[in-house]
Amino acid sequence: MCCEAFGIAGRLLRPDRRRLRPSCFAILGTCEARRRWVTIRAMHTLLFDIDGTLVNTGGAGGAALTGCFCDEFNIAEPASVAFSGRTDRAIATNLFEEHGIEDSEENWQRLRSGYLARLGHELPRRQGCVLPGVLELLERVRTLEHVAVGLLTGNLAKGAEIKLDYYRLDAHFAFGGYGDVHRSRDDVARSAIDAAREHLGDRFREDRVWVIGDTPHDVSCARAVNARVLAVATGIHPSEELAASLPDELRDDLSNTDQIQRLLLGS
Ligand SMILES: [Mg+2]
Repeated sequence: MCCEAFGIAGRLLRPDRRRLRPSCFAILGTCEARRRWVTIRAMHTLLFDIDGTLVNTGGAGGAALTGCFCDEFNIAEPASVAFSGRTDRAIATNLFEEHGIEDSEENWQRLRSGYLARLGHELPRRQGCVLPGVLELLERVRTLEHVAVGLLTGNLAKGAEIKLDYYRLDAHFAFGGYGDVHRSRDDVARSAIDAAREHLGDRFREDRVWVIGDTPHDVSCARAVNARVLAVATGIHPSEELAASLPDELRDDLSNTDQIQRLLLGS
């Protein structure tokens, strides 16, 4: 009876094969049918950090930002500020504060425009690379229609686009949260979740979200949105430091594609 009912449901699938017509429920009339309907529609969401997780740019981003800052604001020696895991907007605020420059929208836009113009020139001058296992994992999940892949990054949206385009990874990401406005990475995480929800509509499931990143900030921002987090020790933070931030999972890198897929997707 059950198989027969699902056979009927299969014939009633709409062309995109993701929605059953409401009349199916009247025909099937079983809880199992409803459970399968939800399963068909629900999506896994993977939110990737960029620097130290997908790619190592060899310091191109930092060089572009500080180089532009020095040129635009006549700074001989930029102050040392933390970059790792932080948003571009927060880094800019720190630079302005350290040098007594007003953290105004006008100054931010000067720095932002100069940085983006410079970034494309810095990338080829550095010994950067796509990190181990990244391409294989992205290619794998690209074939799975129940997985949505986005970004959760402190990069400017345009900066993310420039970096991913340079490393030929841009086609893998459909949406994201970025560091254009927010100084807190937690707010970027909330923005990424909003973008995922908008992209997926009622197929978004908040209990099927993983954040993948290389810093303690990635772990803490995942907690801010109740997502699970896979930390990878491919950036500047060693495994011991990442372990202390209590990620759900920790790996040296993303190179074991089968294992990472099972971890993130359960299959
Ligand atoms: Mg990172």
